[in-house]
Amino acid sequence: MFSRCRSGAVAPVDFAPSPFMPILAPEQVKSNYDVIVVGSGAAGGQTAYTLTMEGAKVLMLEAGRDYDPVKETPMFQINSQAPLRGIATPEKPWGFYDATVDGGWTVPGEPFTNASSKRTEQFTWWRSRMLGGRTNHWGRIALRNGPYDFKSHSRDGHGFDWPIGYEDVAPYYDKVEMLIGVYGSTNSLENTPDSSPGVLLPPPKPRAGELLAQRRAKTLGLPVISIRRAVLSARQDAVGVPKKLHPNNPKAQRVLAEAMRSRAACFWATDCGRGCSIKANYQSTTVHLPPALATGNLDLVTNAMAREVILDASGRATGIVYIDRLTGSEHRVSARVVVLAASSCETVRLLLNSKSPRFPQGLANSSGLVGKYIMDTVGAGLGGQVPLLENLPLHNEDGAGGAHVYVPWWLYREQHAGKLDFARGYHIEFGTGRGMPGMYTGAGMEWLTGGSYGTKFKEDARRYYGSFVSFGGRGEMIPNENCFCELDPTVKDKWGIPVLRFHWKWSSHELRQAAHQQRTFAAILEAMGGKIQTPPAEDPATILRPGGNVKHEVGGARMGDDPKNSVTNSFGQTWDVKNLFLTDGAPFCSNADKNPTLTIMALAWRASDYLLDELRKGNL
Ligand SMILES: Cc1cc2nc3c(=O)[nH]c(=O)nc-3n(C[C@H](O)[C@H](O)[C@H](O)COP(=O)(O)OP(=O)(O)OC[C@H]3O[C@@H](n4cnc5c(N)ncnc54)[C@H](O)[C@@H]3O)c2cc1C
Ligand code: SF4
Repeated sequence: MFSRCRSGAVAPVDFAPSPFMPILAPEQVKSNYDVIVVGSGAAGGQTAYTLTMEGAKVLMLEAGRDYDPVKETPMFQINSQAPLRGIATPEKPWGFYDATVDGGWTVPGEPFTNASSKRTEQFTWWRSRMLGGRTNHWGRIALRNGPYDFKSHSRDGHGFDWPIGYEDVAPYYDKVEMLIGVYGSTNSLENTPDSSPGVLLPPPKPRAGELLAQRRAKTLGLPVISIRRAVLSARQDAVGVPKKLHPNNPKAQRVLAEAMRSRAACFWATDCGRGCSIKANYQSTTVHLPPALATGNLDLVTNAMAREVILDASGRATGIVYIDRLTGSEHRVSARVVVLAASSCETVRLLLNSKSPRFPQGLANSSGLVGKYIMDTVGAGLGGQVPLLENLPLHNEDGAGGAHVYVPWWLYREQHAGKLDFARGYHIEFGTGRGMPGMYTGAGMEWLTGGSYGTKFKEDARRYYGSFVSFGGRGEMIPNENCFCELDPTVKDKWGIPVLRFHWKWSSHELRQAAHQQRTFAAILEAMGGKIQTPPAEDPATILRPGGNVKHEVGGARMGDDPKNSVTNSFGQTWDVKNLFLTDGAPFCSNADKNPTLTIMALAWRASDYLLDELRKGNL
């Protein structure tokens, strides 16, 4: 345990040997810990990793069931072995093999509500109730925010600045990338930061369609560069990286080296969305939790649905009340510090549900900002077919799950000069190649073939297979006061916990950005000599994906410098309760076009370093 050290001197880290701790039953939980972490996804995993490697005793509460990708991932089964050839069903919205075992767009018995019934004002919420949360099946696109992304209000007058800059987070981006393993390239592009030398793993080669897009998009002035993905394109340096990440900490180095050696390099042949039993991609369950458990400092309880944070009479957080989802019984656990990392909206829900006479509007909500300014990503798409890619010689294009290249936002200067009619940018993700044939391979080609049957249909299927290209825009949304969540006044989940009610409205910036996305996609397709199936929409509201649909929801408990207009300081420490931290996306001030998870992990590591320091100094 960390000893309180009132002198301010750093207390020695206790690495007394302790046994490997498996998942505990509620009655096995100890009476006190240094830190309770709620949630085991990207945020909870990173937080628990950093804390336990440095000797803190941590109890992790996870609402979902235990999940072990090494044992449970059906990596080598093919679509023809699955019911309905693996296609999506309401229970498995992303197909039979998607790694989500409990959850998705709906979680049985745990609803959420929307204040409006209008399609354009709906919020959808993907939740994964399983150890590791959504990291078991996320896309693993791991982009850094750039310097502009932390100071967007100063640049264009919209939204909010962060209380920190890129330089504060950059060292943590390096650390997370080295730990989880991210491939990518160095490109020296505006607001698209490079990593420090030696941090990234080498990128895979682009696929045929991606190479064509790269060449033709260049003629339009668009850079097509290697994407960054948390997939091991090569084995990690299990000697050098642990020393860099944990200097002067031989035990942490040994534990991490062992964990890194247990990870194999990707063999580019199976679908990452199912998870990776050889640990080649990042999942909290294969990368963060095993070393954290191996320190002997992590106790883990699954099926533990946190309901509220407990406070003592002085307003300090003392622990958590949780419901055992297997028995419905209620339990209380205690620690010196409580960290909420349950995913941003769920963290907001926990704060709002932790009402007390001292905090009648919800915990840490003296600013009134808890639940406010939630954000997602602006997502629109367009697809078509490219004759140049027809009848290519057969070759393997499996690769890592998802595109190998992407287009980072390239119009910073034009936008800054006021030449665009929307304020923030987007990047472009590609869909190309010959995926494993499924139920719909060869379907919907009538717009090209005019309809064919028998032998002609087989010829057409072979001809067109691999010649389809799709584009997905991922754009920055400006936080606005119409996007927030609150407790639903009447609806409760099956545990009797009030659920969230969402309010959502895109602003004209997002609508105009979506229209621009579609025009750009059409221009790239044209430059590739391709045919567009459905032309860009007249009304962008019809193609903009609903709030939450890109699953990049962040915000709801913004960080800042001033307790009057923020919920936490720059370390995710709440202003109102100093031993309560939020380490998921809730404290985000903006949501850059860059997918948020790498930033969530970098900030969780930074917050955990600060928390450890404060523990050692006896300030918590
Ligand atoms: C299909 C898909 C693809 C994605 N692709 C990308 C991508 O390519 N790049 C990217 O950056 N992001 C991507 N994301 C988003 C990414 O998954 C999230 O940003 C990330 O997982 C957030 O981490 P988190 O720890 O905050 O939340 P989660 O990973 O959702 O983890 C939260 C955990 O907390 C648990 N929990 C919730 N409530 C409670 C409670 N009351 N008590 C106890 N435990 C609780 C949950 O069960 C869950 O295990 C994708 C998401 C999805 C669904
Ligand atoms: S493509 Fe690579 S990282 Fe993805 S599941 Fe297969 S082996 Fe793992």
